[in-house]
Parts: sequence; C-alpha cells; structure tokens
Amino acid sequence: MKKLLFIAMLCSFAFAQVFAADKEYNVDLVIVGAGAGGLTAAVSAQEKGLSTVLLEKKPAVGGTGNFMEGTYAVESFMQKEAGVKLTKQQAFNEVMSYHHWKSNPRLVKAVIDQSAETIKWIWDHGVHFEEVKTAWLNKPNKTWHIFPESGSNYIKAMVNIYTSKGGTLLTETPGKKLLLDKNGAVTGVIAENEDGEVIQVNAKSVILATGGYASNLEMIKKYGGPESLPTVLGSYGDGINMALSVGAALDGMGPLMLNGAFMLAPGEAICNGKNAELRAMFRQSLLYVNSHGERFFNEEVTIDWPLASNAISREGKFTYVVFDAETLKEFQTKGYLNGCGNWIKRGQPMKKFDQLFPENEKKGNAFSGKTLDEVAKKAGFDPEAFKQTAKEITKYAKQGKDERFGKNPRTLRAVEKGPFYVLKGQLHHLTSLGGSRVTEHLQVVNEQGNVIPGLYAVGGDAGGMYGDSYDLTIAEGAASSFAINGARLAVKNIVATGK
Ligand SMILES: Cc1cc2nc3c(=O)[nH]c(=O)nc-3n(C[C@H](O)[C@H](O)[C@H](O)COP(=O)(O)OP(=O)(O)OC[C@H]3O[C@@H](n4cnc5c(N)ncnc54)[C@H](O)[C@@H]3O)c2cc1C
Repeated sequence: MKKLLFIAMLCSFAFAQVFAADKEYNVDLVIVGAGAGGLTAAVSAQEKGLSTVLLEKKPAVGGTGNFMEGTYAVESFMQKEAGVKLTKQQAFNEVMSYHHWKSNPRLVKAVIDQSAETIKWIWDHGVHFEEVKTAWLNKPNKTWHIFPESGSNYIKAMVNIYTSKGGTLLTETPGKKLLLDKNGAVTGVIAENEDGEVIQVNAKSVILATGGYASNLEMIKKYGGPESLPTVLGSYGDGINMALSVGAALDGMGPLMLNGAFMLAPGEAICNGKNAELRAMFRQSLLYVNSHGERFFNEEVTIDWPLASNAISREGKFTYVVFDAETLKEFQTKGYLNGCGNWIKRGQPMKKFDQLFPENEKKGNAFSGKTLDEVAKKAGFDPEAFKQTAKEITKYAKQGKDERFGKNPRTLRAVEKGPFYVLKGQLHHLTSLGGSRVTEHLQVVNEQGNVIPGLYAVGGDAGGMYGDSYDLTIAEGAASSFAINGARLAVKNIVATGK
C-alpha cells in the first residue's frame, strides 16, 4: 500500500514536471482559498515581505467568513476593559475538558495564546469590533468579539489591504493539485482559471484554506457525519483531498458544526434573511416534537445549538416547533425569549408573522389549525400522541415545573388555546470540524506524524480543535478564531523557518 502511494506521488511529481502550464508564477507562498483564513494569511504574508499568490474558486472572496458574527479570544484588550477575568490557562483547560481531550493540546494552546494579540492586530487594521459579549444569560466570561455588522467587513478590509500592498489575487481559479519534488516536499499548486487555462504556481510553501467539506454531502456520509443541510455552499473538501493526495493524515473528521433546525429558506443563513422572524422561533426553547408529535428533549438546550442538534439528529429528518395563539400574542407584544445570532434580539417584538406564516404554509414549511386534531393531521403527527404532548406541556407550564425534562419555567408555555401553529425544520450545519492533521504551527503531517515539508492547512481544512461537537458554551466564535489565528501562526512559522 505504502509502495503504491509512493508511486502515485512520483507520478504526480512527474505530471507536474512535464505538464505545460498556460501561466506560471514563482513566489514564496501560494494560498488556496480566499476566506477568513486565507485572506488573513495573505495579509500577514504580504506584510512580512513574502511574495504571495492567493487562489479563490468563486468570483467573490470571503467564503463563510462573510457570515461570521464574532470571534473568540482570551485576555484581549477589549476583555480587560470589560473586566473579564478569564485567563488563557483557564480557557485552555475549559476547551480541552469540553472536548474530552480529543483535541490537539499544543494546537489549542497555540491558538488561545495567539488570540488576544490577533484582536489588536485586527483592530489596528481598521476593523473595530462593536463589543465583546456572550449570548448566554448571566455568563461572566465574555469571549465573543463582534465584527462591525458582520465578518464581511473583515473580509473587505483584508482584501483591500492585500491587493493594495501588491498581493496577487486570482478569483475563479480553483486550486486543483499539489506539486511535489522528488523528496516529497510540496513545491506549489496547479490551478485552473475560468477560461480553462492551467496556472502553475511554484512556491516555497502552500497554505490550504478552502474551508473544509461542509457542502460535500458524500464526504460527510463517508466520514460518518450526521444527515444535515449546509447553510452556505462553497467548501467541497478540495483542500483536504489535495492534502490526502500527498499522504496527509486526518484529524477529527466526521463531526460538523451543527446549527440546530430551521425551516427551509434558500439563501438565508440562520436568522439573517427575509424569514428571520419565523426562523427565530426555532431558537425560543418552545415545545419541539418529532414526526409522531412526541416531545423528545429539554428545549432550553436549543440555544446551545450544537448540543440541541444532537438531540434533533436522533429523531430523523424533520423536527417541529409548536406554539399556540396565546404564545404568539406574547411574542408579538413582549418579544422573543431568546435572540437568534445578532439579527433577532431578546425582547424584540415579532412584527411580520401575518405575512410570513401564510407564505410558509403554502411552501409546506408551516401548518396551522383551529384544533389540535386539525394541525396534527396537516403536519402528519399521530393526533393522539400530539394531544397527549400538548396536554402534558400545558400542565407543566401551569404548574411551573417540567416533570419530564426539567426545562426552566422561563420558556415553558401552554399549548391549549387555538389556533395552533407548527413550523417544520431540518437540521443545518455551518461548517465541518475536522481536517488534515496539523502541528501547532499548522504544518500538515503524514500518518507517521512527520511534517510534509512546505504544506500548511488552516481553518476548515485543518483538524485538531474539536472533539465531537462545537464548543459554543465555552468558546463562542472559536471557528473563526481557529481560522484567523491559525493563519497567522502558519505565516509566522513560514517567516521563521523560510518554508
Ligand atoms: C452563517 C454562518 C455564520 C457563522 N458565524 C460564525 C461566528 O459568529 N463566529 C465564528 O467563529 N464562526 C462563524 N462561522 C464559521 C466561520 O465562518 C468559519 O469557521 C470560517 O470562515 C472558516 O474560515 P476558512 O478560511 O477555513 O473558510 P472560509 O472562510 O469558508 O473560506 C474558504 C474559501 O475557500 C474557497 N475555496 C473552496 N475550494 C477552493 C479551491 N479548490 N480553490 C480555491 N478556493 C477554494 C471558498 O470559495 C472560500 O472562499 C459561521 C459560518 C456560517 C456559515
């Protein structure tokens, strides 16, 4: 097997040498993918005097980086000003403990240690965070540094700095293949542009930053991931597969950053689109039922969406949120019980129900009925099971005590006054979590644990930060932090070692 792999690598090397490229670049560094990680690496490299080519598959840059709301850091100047006491060492212990020490400890430590300085670096590059906050009620450790409006402002700033400093950005030019020399060191990338021209970029180092494999349903299945829909399309596993083709080991493949259930609304991510007010109902910790009409978890957990997703995933393809006319009135007058990202705020009244609900009823995403029987029939529940569920939750709401799952009375609501409303949802994910196995310097390693010279992977292309779920409760914004800090650490190592 090893012999075959070696022959395949040599073939790939031979291919690189005999293949006539239409265009050729000779640089210090080539980065594949111009999202959060790739652009951060590009600016860092350019500022350190490394000649750089940045390849992007799509016409526009940013990838899922455009959607980031906030990023994780510990001991930042903003946290100090806000009186946050959490130390880097405490944060490291929390993260490792959350992931049951399945993560790569040196990598986690390096990212956390770098994170405060990165907040200052971003600020000094003109991107001024709105605040440092937490989405949790009563949590003292604010770690989520909120980008002004959204991550797209960070992306815009990075691309402007990079190109104004002379960096080469090639859009609609996906990286396809890694080049190897006879010693097994990576020496560049073959890409192809929208005109079908072959672009050969020879470089001392390559950083893979293609965002993982969240859009590749076959890969998700292959690595044992759950049935879930990608929130944003764009990352198909190109970077991970390129690394595999040169012998990379993998780390933590399978788990996704599951984001809970939402009703289908193409083009909308979480609560950032037209249907935000209705999609936010999936984050209110109201009654959830499965396709039989039975309750299956403590819905308070919906705000810890990676964990709620595990409960939802057990119940099959669809899940349903249920509320009655009384609860609807409460939301329309007193507002939402929980926020949904930074788009819907806690206490914000719902205004567009009368327009959005009928529109979604027509699409089969929503059901209403004057009686429990009527709505159960429309939604496909077992009417008896559903009526029993409604009776039970109403009893718990009235007595202020959930005898089944112990939900906080703050979000316990009766389901007894018609009309009754049901929203149908499916599990979605934001990103994949595992990738190539890397060192604390983000160098890709092979199955023997040896560094593949010249090859780095960051963000969604790298593994080692997580166990089986995203660590939202303790490290809000960890994914972007891993991409951005990892990119800076990779470039630091390239500058220090020359490759
Ligand atoms: C809706 C949403 C909200 C989010 N909110 C947050 C948040 O608040 N905080 C947080 O920490 N994280 C958040 N995330 C996750 C965060 O956006 C990602 O973790 C982060 O952007 C990963 O950076 P990346 O560079 O690995 O990938 P991306 O930023 O996705 O960039 C990958 C880039 O590579 C390009 N590409 C793919 N294949 C190729 C190829 N073959 N050649 C060239 N280019 C290629 C893609 O087109 C894309 O531009 C969110 C994600 C989503 C979807």
